[in-house]
Amino acid sequence: MTHDFKTLNIQQDVDLQPFNTLATPAMAQWYTELTDDRQLPEVRRFLAKKQCPLLVLGGGSNVVLDERFSGLVVKVSTRGRQVIAEDEQSVVVRFAAGECWHHIVMWAVEQGYYGLENLALIPGSVGAAPIQNIGAYGVELVNIFESLDAFALDTGEYLTMSAQQCQFAYRDSIFKNELKDKVIITSVTLRLYKTARLMLDYPALKMALSNTGTSLLSPMTVAQAVIRIRQSKLPDPAELPNAGSFFKNPIVSASQLKTLQRQYADIVFYPLSSGDCKLAAGWLLDKAGWKGKMVEQIAMHQQQALVLTNPHRQNGRQVLNFADRVREAIVLQFGVELEIEPRVFVH
Ligand code: FAD
Ligand code: NAP
Repeated sequence: MTHDFKTLNIQQDVDLQPFNTLATPAMAQWYTELTDDRQLPEVRRFLAKKQCPLLVLGGGSNVVLDERFSGLVVKVSTRGRQVIAEDEQSVVVRFAAGECWHHIVMWAVEQGYYGLENLALIPGSVGAAPIQNIGAYGVELVNIFESLDAFALDTGEYLTMSAQQCQFAYRDSIFKNELKDKVIITSVTLRLYKTARLMLDYPALKMALSNTGTSLLSPMTVAQAVIRIRQSKLPDPAELPNAGSFFKNPIVSASQLKTLQRQYADIVFYPLSSGDCKLAAGWLLDKAGWKGKMVEQIAMHQQQALVLTNPHRQNGRQVLNFADRVREAIVLQFGVELEIEPRVFVH
């Protein structure tokens, strides 16, 4: 306990292995749980006094941690939900950053609200969702996003940011760029819809719902289909440590795609409005023989080649060494660079 910080319970040398879904061994020099946004000025004072860095943690499902973090880890554990506007078409709801993402999806679909159903069973917290503009089955956070509230660490001010200010892009936002490590997101406000607007383009989802009559399609039936698909192919981090997709789907130019198609006629790609193409990284990994392949106790998953699994709880450096081997193999075979999706805190 540090006595001059009254509203924060700051602990020393805290084990972060249970707080990251890759289960890499990791220790925090200092650790605290944020349960009330009014504790934030004290977080700022602590950082200034100790002159140390900050690591903000939600559910730890999109991070690669180092064996030791010499600084303060703040686990965002605030709770709450507030309807702030409502009309015939939609409802605008503010969710505290520490809420569990999947719980808010299930709450929304239970109310019959549209918008979140494709994003069911994504692990982690509400506050982390804007960091990479989470997405699944053709829906991204930006599609239902109204605004977010955040605490600026440099000035101590509270900010409200629009979607435009967040600069959302494919698995990307301003929080991975200019505002990296500069704010703590305290709440996210979403607009959910009362009238049908389903996105069922993804083949797996379409197929899972092919026997469900249109009149039975609801946010709940879609969320349940998404949950069934995900449970059938994605490893549960509680049983097999992983951080979801370890690499982003690479974007290549139309001419690079043409070159690749000459050698790989069956390459999986999706044209983008920009004229570029998104390649399915899972297909590249599968083609290159990485699906299910284990090297030094770390493996790409048997059911989904894009998911790196860490069954023997190797450390962050070992995870990155494995990822480097994978990336080098993909460059060598396809001339395509894979970018790591989770936030890497390993030095
Ligand atoms: P953490 O891992 O705790 O943090 C991630 C980053 O956000 C870190 O940089 C952290 O510092 C920062 N951060 C966290 N909270 C805050 C805050 N309040 N303020 C400021 N910064 C913050 N992602 C998808 O997009 N789509 C998917 O379908 C998907 N499926 C997944 C499936 C599995 C099995 C797993 C393990 C992961 C999956 N992911 C997916 C990745 C991950 O779940 C998401 O990125 C999620 O939003 C991370 O939330 P988290 O709370 O665990 O974030
Ligand atoms: P999938 O449905 O087998 O599809 C494979 C890849 O093809 C996906 O990466 C997806 O891109 C792309 N794709 C499929 N249909 C598409 C379409 N109609 N238009 C554009 N792109 C299309 O994928 P999956 O691995 O089972 O995952 C299902 C969804 O959950 C995907 O959206 C995926 O991103 C998401 N997911 C994300 C993570 C993570 O950690 N980030 C982990 C698991 C699942 P996109 O990835 O761009 O959608």
